[in-house]
Formats: sequence, structure tokens, C-alpha cells
Amino acid sequence: MNTIVTGLQWGDEGKGKIVDYLTESADVVVRGQGGNNAGHTVIARGTKYVLHLLPSGILWDGKTNVIGNGVVLDPIGLVAEIERLEGQGVAVTPEKLLISDRCHVVLPLHKELDAAREAALGDRRIGTTKRGIGPAYADKVNRNGLRVADLLDEAYFREVLAHRTAEANEILSKFDLPTFDADQQAGEVLAAFTRLKPHVANTIPVLHEAWKAGRTILFEGAQGSLLDIDFGTFPFVTSSNTTAGGSCTGTGLPPTAIRQVIGVCKAYTTRVGAGPFPTADEGLADYLHDLGREFGATTGRARGCGWLDAVLLRHGCMVNGTTGLAVTNLDGLDNYETLRICTAYDIDGVRHELPPADRHAWDRAAPVYEELPGWMSDTTACTAYDQLPENARAYLTRLSELCDTPIQFVGVGPDREQTLVV
Ligand code: GDP
Repeated sequence: MNTIVTGLQWGDEGKGKIVDYLTESADVVVRGQGGNNAGHTVIARGTKYVLHLLPSGILWDGKTNVIGNGVVLDPIGLVAEIERLEGQGVAVTPEKLLISDRCHVVLPLHKELDAAREAALGDRRIGTTKRGIGPAYADKVNRNGLRVADLLDEAYFREVLAHRTAEANEILSKFDLPTFDADQQAGEVLAAFTRLKPHVANTIPVLHEAWKAGRTILFEGAQGSLLDIDFGTFPFVTSSNTTAGGSCTGTGLPPTAIRQVIGVCKAYTTRVGAGPFPTADEGLADYLHDLGREFGATTGRARGCGWLDAVLLRHGCMVNGTTGLAVTNLDGLDNYETLRICTAYDIDGVRHELPPADRHAWDRAAPVYEELPGWMSDTTACTAYDQLPENARAYLTRLSELCDTPIQFVGVGPDREQTLVV
């Protein structure tokens, strides 16, 4: 059954583990959006792997992994990722990995343009990861981006890059940021590309053949639904469609190819970067941080933490067409006496069951909470849903009702065995 896995919050939901679980029965794993700003941790056979751009199926033999056209690809970053993985003993061969010739390329200059844009925004900065993802997507929409297919034509690539570099340098010098030498940049990108060239293909027919042959395709979402350029908390979002629709536009597989959409969320909410977060709660944040939880994997930065927000999850389930929820990190709440779920926002005395579009309304959105008793016991050793404490099951049932979506998986710890199938 072809399945999409998307995050329902602001990323870091624990998609990696769910994707890894589903990868076992998948023949093809495909990424359709984002770039190497995303990343998840997969623990397989006792080893920890951090993946940014490579689909999770790369950790397995005999699976086809596809970086679809909707992904923005940083050749230098991808080669570094491949080399890191090869250093851990994972082979990355053209049989295992295909890269769409339609992917837009993230250039070194895009990273500095990211920094320039954040500097220009000042207090209104988005808090991007400065990996050049936003500027690469901007070039795509502006129709002056370079694609993987263009890297195959070196003369053309150099010519366009020279032009693009001159433009970028003008902006960068205004912000006292490093400028670029077009030839040096072209050299670096093309050198990295020699490692990637054998993987480049028109991936659309490959995916269609897999679909027609009844092979199982897993669409691996990056980031989360609230970072979606259309449906997220704009402007504090990423530059692509992280919701289910992005899996189609980003791969060339149509909506009719997809049967199942699994929405991953934590049993509470976390957020990094700037932007609205109505259910943020200092007490819960301190509690989770004291447990050593919710520190960014790459930055070490403490994540903002808050109560489960059913307004946002309801919205996420709607726009994704979520067929099942995967609730992770239930164990994080194991010893908290009274839990809260936000069921609506009160904005100027009016009850809202769905998030507002108006960015100013967020400042006035007061969460309407429902309180539920905690379960005050360790869930990490549970191996089946019915072993969970009654209050934990009640909490999950309430979440499911509020989102009108069944619970399919529950995470009670980072290990593979700690994923309960409902
Ligand atoms: P992603 O950004 O959504 O892909 O998030 P990751 O897959 O990187 O997950 C973040 C971290 O949470 C990883 O270190 C996981 O091992 C861990 N994790 C995932 N699910 C659970 C869970 O149910 N409980 C606990 N304690 N940790 C989890």
C-alpha cells in the first residue's frame, strides 16, 4: 500500500522511526520536498544514522530510493552525507539511489543569500537553518534556478552561474557578507556532482513502473505540516509544501497512487525557530528539559515545548487527509500529574477550532484547554497498546476524537521495539 508519512507539527515529530518501521515493507522510498535542512535520526541494527537528504531505505539492501524533483539538492552536502554513510558501512550505489534530473540545485551562494535575507528581516527573521533552501526555491519560482539536468551541460552551467553569482554578490556586499567567485563555485559544485552523476535519472517513469507493478512506495515527508508554505504558520514556514500534496508534485506520482497518509505528532508540542506557539508552557518545557529531552539534534538548542494542540492537529489532519496518527514520545509525559490538550483558541471572545490565517490573530489566540489526568507510570517497557496505562489510552482516545482520525502507532521510546502498532 503506497503510503505518505508527514509530520503534523513543526518538525522533529519522530518521523524517522515511523518511516524506518514502514521502510521494512516498502520497495521504494521517495522524498518529494525540502532539502538537507531536514534530517532525522534512525537507529537501525544498533547503529545511529543521521539522514538529511537520503531516503531511509538507503539503510537497507534491495530497496530503491528516489530523491524526487520537488527536492532542492545541495550536491556538496549530499556527497558529504553519502561519504558519512559509507564510512558507517552503508553502500550508496546507483541501484539503490536515484536522483531526479529535475531537482533544483542549492548553490553555495544560496546559503549566504539565506543569511542576507535573515539580516534584512532583522527582528522579523524566520530563524531559517541557513542551508540555502529558501533562496533555491525562490530561484525555482523566479525561473532562474539551475536544475540537476543543467549540471550535465557544464558550459551552460558555468554561464548561468556566472550571471547568478554577479547578481548575488551585489546583494551580499550590501550586508557585508562573503561574496563568491563564480569559477571557484562552479568547480566545487561540479566536483561534487561527479560523485552523483551515476545516480541521475528521469525518476518519473521509474516511479510509475513501480506503481504499476504493485510495488510498495513510501513517501517520506520532511519537516512538518505547520511549516508548509501554504498551510503552515506563514511566514514562519519552510519554502515547500510539506503536506501530502507535496508528495505528488514533488515526485510525479499522482494522488490516485496514494492509499494511506500517516500523520506523525508528538504527544505534546515542540517548536524551534520563531513564530506562533499558543500552547507553549514553561513548566512543561522545564520538566522535559530536566529529563534531558527536547534539545536539537544538530544545534543542541533547547526546543520550545507546550501542550498538545488539537486545533493545529485537526487542521493538519484535514489538509493531509491523514488516515492514521502516529503519536510519538508518549513516554515524555509519563510522570506528569495533570495534562492539558488545547481544543480551541479563543480569539477576541470568539471560539476557533481551526488556526487563523491572520498573523496578528496569533498574538491574541488564547488556548482553550481540557485537562486530563496523567498516568504517573513508566510506559517505556510497554510492547502493546493494551499494556498502556488506562489514562494514557484515554489521552490518546481523546486526541483521536478531536482530530477525527484513528491512532495507528504509539511511540514510547526511541528504539524500534518501542513503537506500538494499534
Ligand atoms: P523527525 O525530524 O520527525 O524525523 O524526528 P527524528 O526522527 O529525528 O526524532 C527525533 C528524536 O526523537 C530521535 O532521537 C528519536 O530516536 C527520538 N524518538 C522518536 N520517537 C520517540 C519516542 O516515542 N520516544 C522517545 N523517547 N524518543 C523518540
